Parts: sequence; C-alpha cells; structure tokens
Amino acid sequence: MVTSEAAPLVKVGGLADVLGALPKELERLGHDVRLVLPLYGSVKRSDELKPLPQPLHVFLAGSSHSVRVFETKLPGTGVKVYFLEYDEFYGSLDVYETEVTNDRRFTMLNRAAINLCYLLDWAPDVFHVHDWVGSLVPVYLNTTDRKTPLAQAATVLTIHNLQHQGHFGREALEVAHLPKEQVFRSDNMEAYGGVNFLKGGLYNATRITTVSPTYAAEIQRPEFGCGLDHTIRQRSGDLVGIANGIDTDAWNPRTDTRLPSNYSFRNLDGKRVCRTRLQESFGLEVRDDVAIYGFVARLYEQKGIDLLLPVASKLLTEQPVQIVILGAGDPGLEDACNKLMRHFPESCGVKLGYNDALSHLIYAGSDFFLMPSRFEPCGLSQMYAMNYGTPPVARRTGGLIDTIIAYDANRKDGTGFMFEAASPDALLGTMSWTTDILLNHREQYDMVQKNGMKAEFSWRNPAHKYAEVYENAIVARSGKAPTSSTSGDRLPPASPQVANA
Ligand code: ADP
Repeated sequence: MVTSEAAPLVKVGGLADVLGALPKELERLGHDVRLVLPLYGSVKRSDELKPLPQPLHVFLAGSSHSVRVFETKLPGTGVKVYFLEYDEFYGSLDVYETEVTNDRRFTMLNRAAINLCYLLDWAPDVFHVHDWVGSLVPVYLNTTDRKTPLAQAATVLTIHNLQHQGHFGREALEVAHLPKEQVFRSDNMEAYGGVNFLKGGLYNATRITTVSPTYAAEIQRPEFGCGLDHTIRQRSGDLVGIANGIDTDAWNPRTDTRLPSNYSFRNLDGKRVCRTRLQESFGLEVRDDVAIYGFVARLYEQKGIDLLLPVASKLLTEQPVQIVILGAGDPGLEDACNKLMRHFPESCGVKLGYNDALSHLIYAGSDFFLMPSRFEPCGLSQMYAMNYGTPPVARRTGGLIDTIIAYDANRKDGTGFMFEAASPDALLGTMSWTTDILLNHREQYDMVQKNGMKAEFSWRNPAHKYAEVYENAIVARSGKAPTSSTSGDRLPPASPQVANA
C-alpha cells in the first residue's frame, strides 16, 4: 500500500485511520500487506525503526537520490511498514506541504515504492495506492515500467477524498521522468494544461474503489465530481464503493484508556463521568439539563462548520445547549470559533489543534456528535461517536447515508439524526429538534443511543470486500478476464506477458 498517512504512526485525518486498520484486518485474512510512506520530521524516531542495510536509489528530476529506508511494524500487527528518509523532501513537520514541493515529495514516494520492491526482492500481486499521493504507481507500471516484471502486478486506487487531486505544472512530468507523449493527454494525466496525478491514477489503475457506495455514485455527478466526474463515469464499471470500518480495538469505550471512566451499552455510568470531565476540561458549566454537541474535525468548509457558526449565537442564547469544538485548519474558521468561545465561555468550548486524547473524550462525553458536512466520502467520526453512545447529528450526504440509520419517530428506529439541506437554518432546526428529544423524550434518545452502540462497524466485512477487489484486479491485469470498462488499465499491448485483455 502506498500512502501518505497511517495511524498511529502519522495522522492528519481519516486516511490514516483506514491505513492503520485495513492492513491489520487483511493480515488476519492471511494477506502479506506492506506499507510504504515518507519519514516526515514529525514521525517519532525510536529503536523500533530499523534501517535497511542498503540505500534505495531513486532517479528523479534528472539525478539519482539516495534514500534511507527504515523498516518497522504497524503497532500491534505483523504488517511491515517502510519509511523513506530523505530529509530534503520530508524533513519538515508537515505531511502535506505546498504545491511547490508536493510534486517532488510524492513523486519520490511512488517511484521509491516500486524501486523498493526490487531492493527487497519482493513482488506484490497488487499495489493498493491511496488518493493522489499514490496515483503515479499505476502510471509508471503502464508506461516507463511496463516491460518490467513488476508491471504484472495489478493496481487498485482508493479515492478517500476527490477534492485533493495533485494538480501541478507540466514540468512535473520531467521531474517524474514520465513520457509526455503517452501521459500528457486529456485521457490520461493532462488537465487544464497542467498535470493531475489523481487523473493519471484514475485512467491507469486496474480497479478503483472509494470509501462508500453513496460517494461512488455521487462522484460521477458534476456537483461532487470536482472536475473528474467525466473520467470517473468512464471507469464506472471498474469502480466499487466500500464503506470504511473502524478499528474497534483502538476505539472501544469499554477499554479506552484515554477516558476517565469506561462503559458499555449495558452500563452507561462511565459515560456520565466522561460528560462531566468534558465540561470541566472546556471550562463549561457542569450541568445535566443541557444538550452537549461535540465537533471534532479538520476545520474546513467541507465539514460544515461554517453552517454552524452563523446560528451558534442564537442557539447558545436561546436554547439549553453547549457546544464543544476541537479542530484545526482554515485560519478564518479558527478565528470565528475562538470568537464564539469568548462570547459564550460557559457554554462554548474551543480547542484549536490536533489532540487525539481530547477527541476521545469528546466522542465519549458529548450527548450528540455534530457532522454537518457539505460532502463526506465516508467519515469515520460518526462511527466512533455511535460506538461511544453519542448519536450523530449529520447531513444526509455520502458515507453518512451509508453508515447512519436516520431516526424515524414512527418506526422507532435509527442510530442517529439526519438533515437534508446544507444551510444554517436547517442545522438550527435540527439541533432544536434533537435537543428537545434529549431533554423531553429521553426514551427516544436512549433507543437511538443503544442502537448505535450495538451497530457493527468493524473492518471484517470491508476487508473481505477489498480482498475480492484485489482478486478481481489480479485476474483483469493478467488478461484472463476482460475489464468491464472501455478505458482503464490501459497497458499497451507491447508487453504481452502483462497485457490486459
Ligand atoms: P477526514 O478524513 O475528512 O478528516 P474522517 O471523519 O474520515 O474525516 O476522519 C477524521 C479523523 O481525524 C477522526 O479520527 C477524527 O477524530 C480525527 N481528527 C480530526 N481532527 C482532529 C483533531 N483536531 N484532533 C484529533 N483528532 C482529529
């Protein structure tokens, strides 16, 4: 697997959680999964990182670069992780830098991932690459590397978030040493006169997956396609949506050591302790007769925080509500959150930055988890929240639709509360409704809470589905079965031993 993040080693968002959990589950199914990712300056150095005896040579931008490789294991598993040390590119603390440096950084990751297999004398059946940062591997294997033994490997590209595509000037092709005549075309990497790494991945991967069935359908439409809906429609026959699971070892309220008290759906006493601790940690008034709404996310428009901010003052003034926000991102949104806290210090708590332990306390101690996302490929936070007995209040979009059963007063069913319109008023109306359910119809709230806690969110089923995609991709790549789409996996016929049907 070629990735930029893997929890708990390197985490920015949900991509890391997937890469921390899916390999573990695949290993349980008997697969030999190995991860390759950059050794950023922020990764903790320890004796657990063992250097490989030889350096890895990566030819990039006209010269050869010597990369040191460190091997370790994904904690608690036998899954091998290879970290690429090249401080000139990866030495800073940031996982994602700027458009100026990112092409070199992630081109190196892709080139190095292939070269590493030779160094290790290890040939995977499948390169499973993630998002634009891993999208050049399928391109290399179909072009510069197409006559090499490794080109027999199938490639699977998973889209975790279509918004990030890796757009660069056309000189990125020279950096990568990719053949312009083959890839600088509108049906390959070319986009708006520049190059688009993700588009290259979409055209060249044997199979494509994304992180929920609803998102798989959404990204084929212009509203969600981020300019690539046409490309994705072309490959729709090779696209599968598989909803993420969660790592139920790491995210379990019965055993979570980050919580002041543990609990289960049979005994929720511990949750009340977490609730009080949450109010104390954010300096809020400690009271039972309010609804606490927790929000943990990257602070960007995608997450719908800008839907909450315009109505937050009204909510906090007129309703028995407390709001707790943990996040980092857009400076304007960070500022607006801080301002809100200053106006309502007793009912609104804000912590800016990344804080894993505090996120667990928010999932456990809140009454509701807010997720008003404008779009959401899958979302993991809503599943953590449900597992921790905190029903989500979420927009009806993407993976939220696939993972939350919307409360229905008539059917007396549901694991969370959902609303349709991406507008502050819709959110305000929904929060008034859910606050009323908590404070005045407690039995309904309890039912939703328990349903969520009992729901199955493990990686077992998704991992089986990925294994099926791998098998399918291997067969398609070997030419034993036709690919189902017209484009895709466009391995030129020049290489008979690996050509596609
Ligand atoms: P995305 O991948 O779009 O960021 P997900 O819901 O899939 O959204 O995953 C987000 C993950 O990142 C969750 O595990 C969430 O708890 C975590 N997270 C986001 N922001 C923070 C933060 N500021 N501190 C701690 N954890 C965070």
